[in-house]
Amino acid sequence: MLQITCPWCGKRDEPEFTCGGELPVRPEPALQASDEEWTNYLYFRNNKKGLHTEVWRHTHGCRQWFIADRDTMNHEVRNIRKINAASDQVQRQRHSGA
Ligand SMILES: [Zn+2]
Repeated sequence: MLQITCPWCGKRDEPEFTCGGELPVRPEPALQASDEEWTNYLYFRNNKKGLHTEVWRHTHGCRQWFIADRDTMNHEVRNIRKINAASDQVQRQRHSGA
């Protein structure tokens, strides 16, 4: 079974965790955006092949959010870090318009 190392609790089985989505956070469409734009935003992800960054929550443990890089080719999870670093990253991207 895949195991993920929570920054607070240590190594635990993957079913204890919930993936919160990819980073960086995608910009939300404008309120007047078309149904197609909202459908794409709500239901489709980039689903990138290889290593990408996601937010995860230790839902059935400490309930803390954290950041992890996951390789979609082999499900290896690495470079796990607490949410503060990612929050700072998201804020910088929002302010820079990236
Ligand atoms: Zn935990």
